[in-house]
Amino acid sequence: MTSGSSEYVTFRRALRRAAGPLKRDLPWIGHHDPWAVLVSEFMLQQTQVSRVIGPWSEFLERFPTPADCARAPLSEVMRRWAGLGYHRRAKALHDAARMIRDEFDGVVPSEVGQLLRLPGVGEYTANAVASFSFARPVAVLDTNVGRILARALANRPLDKREAGAMANQLLARSASAGFNQSMLDLGAQYCRAVPRCASCPVAGVCRWNAEGGVDPAPRSAAVSRAQSPFVGSDRQLRGRVLSHLRGGGLAKLALFARLEGTDVKRCEVVLHGLVRDGLVQRRGRMVQLTGD
Ligand code: SF4
Repeated sequence: MTSGSSEYVTFRRALRRAAGPLKRDLPWIGHHDPWAVLVSEFMLQQTQVSRVIGPWSEFLERFPTPADCARAPLSEVMRRWAGLGYHRRAKALHDAARMIRDEFDGVVPSEVGQLLRLPGVGEYTANAVASFSFARPVAVLDTNVGRILARALANRPLDKREAGAMANQLLARSASAGFNQSMLDLGAQYCRAVPRCASCPVAGVCRWNAEGGVDPAPRSAAVSRAQSPFVGSDRQLRGRVLSHLRGGGLAKLALFARLEGTDVKRCEVVLHGLVRDGLVQRRGRMVQLTGD
């Protein structure tokens, strides 16, 4: 299929008609400040939308520009990351803010190639910022969009190259931000892991809905797999350690005592991982957030 194929034209039309009702009321949607958009994209990687809304506003209140974030110690950025999990993203965002300050005169770059140089920025995030903030004609391809492509357009699993090519060909080049946002809105509200086809506004142009068959999305590129259980995981333990250290540094044994019920060897391994990731530092017997 090419960008002018009738399937693409028909799908674009259906999506455009549905765009209004699909639009979610989220504070970063339509935001023109690229720093605000970049922060939202970092936070939304692996964290549910509902958990991002509050921390996003508070983060931008404290760090309204990349320079404000770059100036702060990492420990302060980590404190503003409370509740979001996957704390390596906080460090990557802090590193990105420093690179923006030092190498881009404090201005979030507008080109995908430049955005990809920032720590923690992959293809999805670079394209999202370039499209939403700078109207660059680039497609976003995340798990939501990957599901739509595999189900509605192909009705078969797609490999990475096919999914990327299809996303680019489907893109409505004259208004990339609106089109990309509609795709994300459709994926988040209807074309979910368990799809809501009965009420989906583009069901009439969806191949899987018309032809049936095994759901192609779970085996398709760009579609994320279910996360391993959180309770009892090292992710949870890392979060508990960081949560205790947000109140200030602690002696290692005092910290471990607060992780009651956890094997000391496991505590050591998790602590070692946090130090290796640059999120925590040791000072003698003390352990503290990096930058404290
Ligand atoms: S009809 Fe179902 S599978 Fe097709 S796009 Fe809508 S939600 Fe997805």
